[in-house]
Amino acid sequence: MPNYDFECQDCHKAFEVRATIKEMEEGKISCVKCKSKNIKRIFNGFGVCTGKTSSSMSSSSSSCSPCSSGSCSTCG
Ligand SMILES: [Zn+2]
Repeated sequence: MPNYDFECQDCHKAFEVRATIKEMEEGKISCVKCKSKNIKRIFNGFGVCTGKTSSSMSSSSSSCSPCSSGSCSTCG
């Protein structure tokens, strides 16, 4: 069972939870500090993404490949 990183949107506590995908989808994960369900998944397994397109990365689009996000709005 892998660990997942979350950040609570209420108290901004960052924490790691060992859970299954199913448990996450069913909303069984809550903040370890305030028990809030208002949490956000943090993706950090793809390397650091600065949101800026590296000039060394061929001339691809402006999408953020390290975080698999088209807009790079989640990895700021
Ligand atoms: Zn919290």
